[in-house]
Amino acid sequence: MIGLISATAAGASARDRLATAWPGRTRVYDGPVRRAVESAFAECEQLVCFLATGATVRLLAPLLADKTTDPGVVCVDEAGRYVVSLLGGHAGGANSLAAEVASVLAAAPVITTATDATGVPGLDTLGLPVEGAVPTITRALLDGAPVRLRADAVWPLPALPPNVTREEPPAPGTADPAGRSAATTAILDGTPATPHADSATRDEERPAPLSGTADHAGRSAATTTAQAQATAEPPHAVAHARQPANPDVATAHPAPAADVPAPLPVLHLTDRIVPLGPTDVVLRPPSLVVGVGASKGAGVDEVYGLVLDALRDAGLSALSVAELATVDAKADEPGIVEAAGRFGVPVRTYPAGVLADITVPNPSDAPLAAVGTPSVAEAAALAAGRGGELLVQKRKSSPEGRPAMATCAVVRKPPRGRLAVVGLGPGARDLLTPRATAELRRASVLVGLDQYVDQIRDLLRPGTRVVESGLGHEEERARTAVAEAQAGHAVALIGSGDAGVYAMASPALAEAADDIEVVGVPGVTAALAAAAILGAPLGHDHVSISLSDLHTPWEVIERRVRAAAEADIVVTFYNPRSRGRDWQLPKALALLAEHRTAATPVGVVRNASRPDGTSHLTTLARLDPATVDMMTVVTVGNTATREIAGRMVTPRGYRWQSEGAR
Ligand code: SAH
Repeated sequence: MIGLISATAAGASARDRLATAWPGRTRVYDGPVRRAVESAFAECEQLVCFLATGATVRLLAPLLADKTTDPGVVCVDEAGRYVVSLLGGHAGGANSLAAEVASVLAAAPVITTATDATGVPGLDTLGLPVEGAVPTITRALLDGAPVRLRADAVWPLPALPPNVTREEPPAPGTADPAGRSAATTAILDGTPATPHADSATRDEERPAPLSGTADHAGRSAATTTAQAQATAEPPHAVAHARQPANPDVATAHPAPAADVPAPLPVLHLTDRIVPLGPTDVVLRPPSLVVGVGASKGAGVDEVYGLVLDALRDAGLSALSVAELATVDAKADEPGIVEAAGRFGVPVRTYPAGVLADITVPNPSDAPLAAVGTPSVAEAAALAAGRGGELLVQKRKSSPEGRPAMATCAVVRKPPRGRLAVVGLGPGARDLLTPRATAELRRASVLVGLDQYVDQIRDLLRPGTRVVESGLGHEEERARTAVAEAQAGHAVALIGSGDAGVYAMASPALAEAADDIEVVGVPGVTAALAAAAILGAPLGHDHVSISLSDLHTPWEVIERRVRAAAEADIVVTFYNPRSRGRDWQLPKALALLAEHRTAATPVGVVRNASRPDGTSHLTTLARLDPATVDMMTVVTVGNTATREIAGRMVTPRGYRWQSEGAR
């Protein structure tokens, strides 16, 4: 709920406009302003104060508790010109609320959160759990200071600014001088060689330990962390001691001297528990799938505790758990459902027959008898893990004094890149949809035709890698975009108008397999942009036909034009005429003229919505092909289309119109 507070008549009138625009979403707080602010602060997720910022700050100050839980607050000035995001820009959603309120009140949003103002993504806005020195790294990102990215794999994140340099991940299977595999080096280096490797690091990411859960040494989970921290080196010393997996501190061995410069901040992107330096941050990718099996009635503490133990012993973060997986028969097993709830992740289930077909290291007879598959935990984890690596083999719970009722296994899913196919609209910036803008800013790689890239370059985040090519390289662009997504990146493939209409979406999706996520963002296609200029030519059935015979034989095009002509359908011609293709448009118009009168209205729109845009309305008989080029669409009416007051109008339908007239 959004609480609305005002003190003056002008404020109340703006407040009422907002309340009317958003009924059900807003609540008006009347009465003395201080009391109104206090009540709204306690009861609402967000506040809109029609008050000066100074007054609002004074009223809020005694109420502030925590950045993560305080409501987002925006202020609207007395004249209703500015909507200031005052508090909770990210966590409280005040930045986006300010933009929304501003659009209702026709005011200007004022955003001062540095990351939003500069285009650098806020670490807390990436949709991944984040821990560590967030303010320090954010500062470094904004200041252009060097930051290292140490990622296990490429995840489809938005572009990070150019001062972030990515460390090459160690090749899988490479061994360090101590003979350990690269995959385990970072877990082991600098941390005590105990099963509780995570305990030596900042350990904020672990869900609260279960009271009374004991580890194998019989220590309670709550005391394990404290003990290990007391005996371990402080985190920054741990980071310095890491050799050789940590090239930036390669000179710091064996112990950092006082005059050695501070280590570069490191942005880790990993599901592993790694030592964090005092200026480090770790982002947790949603990479872990936990397969779980449970006997009927298994308690949530047993299931949850088993999974936590398994993750901890494998040096994995619970914050990277993306989902629990099990067999269909256990879809409603309370212990599993509630454990998933504690992790805040969904449960995915598979038919027993599917799981039975998966080869696992530890099949057994018990689940075969109970649910019809020799493996639940391992098989379900592998099924959901998209061919990923089995990090933790089947493990049973070990409750005292009774048989185990739960099993689990952990698989690391390979990252899935993201391909957004984004239509930019016909040209004008205000015909670019907000969703398209968001996708452009979501991407780290942009692929497109150079002239379209120029159209939106200012919207890209600093650090976005742009792969542009000239006209005629469609297939290459499509292949590049898909390959970049397959490499794990967040890619935006752009096209003018709608990217699915005579554009990049189909060649790209023809290349793509289901190993990438694909998101389509519709755009205003040229036919619609032109129609809005012409009047209402598409009021009844209509079709688009491209007259380009470069890739389509003319016979096919001609057959389609004839069909549209016979069926009396309004036709918009794309790619109507170029220097080398000049006879096709007159031919197509002649085919339509076999079924429509010479006076049939024809709209010609060139560069719709662009600064040099032109349009004119003519007829089938009068159209001068010289007015048409490749920047133009030509819309030919049906037999009912009329010119009315200089506009092209196709009636919705005879029956509907005559009913309306009655
Ligand atoms: N994907 C684009 C169409 C690409 S085909 C879309 O959905 O609009 C290229 C053809 O589209 C051009 O030859 C022209 O016929 C038409 N076109 C694209 N943008 C246009 C504009 N702003 N005004 C008029 N025609 C346009």
